[in-house]
Amino acid sequence: MRAVQETTGGPPAIPQTTGIAWCAWHESYSNTARLVRDSSGARLFACYSCRQAYDLPLVADQPCTPAS
Ligand SMILES: [Zn+2]
Repeated sequence: MRAVQETTGGPPAIPQTTGIAWCAWHESYSNTARLVRDSSGARLFACYSCRQAYDLPLVADQPCTPAS
């Protein structure tokens, strides 16, 4: 568990847990937005309603850590 956010020059950190994020589908902020993968493979945030409406798969519920 790391308490400090890493800034190692990688992609910008995206908060995945709580707070408000921009829903790319209805183009507004939502506090239910989660990171999903769209049909082109891009990773965008979608709120709960849009995930239901467009059947969007969540990228992951856990942080991006190397698995096994
Ligand atoms: Zn939405």
